[in-house]
Amino acid sequence: MSKEIKEEPKLPPPITQAFNFASSMAKFVKSGLKFTSKAVYSNRLAMCTYCDKLRHSDGRCSECGCYVEAKAEISSEACPLGKWPAVKEGKTLRRVGKKVGTGKAVGSEVKKGKCGSCNRKRK
Ligand code: SF4
Repeated sequence: MSKEIKEEPKLPPPITQAFNFASSMAKFVKSGLKFTSKAVYSNRLAMCTYCDKLRHSDGRCSECGCYVEAKAEISSEACPLGKWPAVKEGKTLRRVGKKVGTGKAVGSEVKKGKCGSCNRKRK
């Protein structure tokens, strides 16, 4: 009984990968930095997992050179072979400058009066 070792598909040339990356980032910024929902992300990864273009050793797509786990998270991304499309909906990035754990944005001023969500009086 012989065990067949399947060779992994090759990545595109570095210049093509660089172009694909720059193009993806431009689309990502233009779309408003949106990330997919968990359902869309899981569906996309399921398609990639069974695709013969996936390189299982490093998790990269041999068509575009992208890391599929990162690619699947970005709403504006699409499979280069049309197996899954770009989507418009998605969560945007958290506000830049937000302090973890405090709920206050760095540099923002807290207005006096009542809180809009819990109706407690601010000091
Ligand atoms: S992005 Fe498309 S071509 Fe690439 S591994 Fe996923 S399904 Fe296959």
